Amino acid sequence: MDVEVLGSTNDQLSVIFRGAQPTFVNAIRRIIMAEIPIPAIEKVYVAENTSVLYDEILAHRLGMIPMRGGETLVPPDQCNCGGKGCGFCESVLTLEVEAKEDNVVVYSGRLKAEGSVFPANNDIPIVKLNSGQKIALVAHARLGRGKEHAKWQPVSACVIKYEPVVSIQADCDLCGICVERCPRKILEINENEKKLAVRSIWDCSLCKVCEEVCPKSAIKVSYNDKTSRLTIETTGSKSNEELLISAFDFLIKKCESLKNSIGGATNG
Ligand SMILES: [Zn+2]
Repeated sequence: MDVEVLGSTNDQLSVIFRGAQPTFVNAIRRIIMAEIPIPAIEKVYVAENTSVLYDEILAHRLGMIPMRGGETLVPPDQCNCGGKGCGFCESVLTLEVEAKEDNVVVYSGRLKAEGSVFPANNDIPIVKLNSGQKIALVAHARLGRGKEHAKWQPVSACVIKYEPVVSIQADCDLCGICVERCPRKILEINENEKKLAVRSIWDCSLCKVCEEVCPKSAIKVSYNDKTSRLTIETTGSKSNEELLISAFDFLIKKCESLKNSIGGATNG
């Protein structure tokens, strides 16, 4: 298997896997979405809330804010407290804002971290307070996985695309209709070599418009499922690279545990 990083920014990472089974790449995708533990707010103790939002909606909005940190936290199911919540498996954040004279928009940056967990982004609006309104609350964050609730899903997008294959037959007469009609503009006529060329193959959406409009049926669009591109967009809880590496580690551990179980079963 050959792996190539197609592009990487703070928000998005695109990696090409060549010679990998689609099921393998899909396993990595599903692990990233459902199995990597990240922190999120799970309990909210509201001391005062005179805003227009009910306590429940406020708690829900707080729960959906991507959180960072929590490396020292123990997953609640492995904690000595039995999952009830304690200083080892939970991290506390507080929020106290009062709009004294003017309207105030309360952003995630106002959440004060008392432990190791803090908001991944400080500019997420939580609630708008009118003058005289106030909120005061204590929130407890804990580690969780995407399969429990979407708030523990570390990615906003995690998708696979097979490599598009555009084959141009010899009877192409360079009429240029496909170049004009392609919605992604991936085709061009190479004037020097006098032939139709594909500019950026990964931009092809497999819509097959070129195939339909070609009067000579000289163009065929298909895909290669042995080469796929995995695109990850983090919510900010972990970096895209950390997520990808954690997914591989998780898959290795899962395979080892399966191997041990099979070994135990056959020996017994
Ligand atoms: Zn605990």
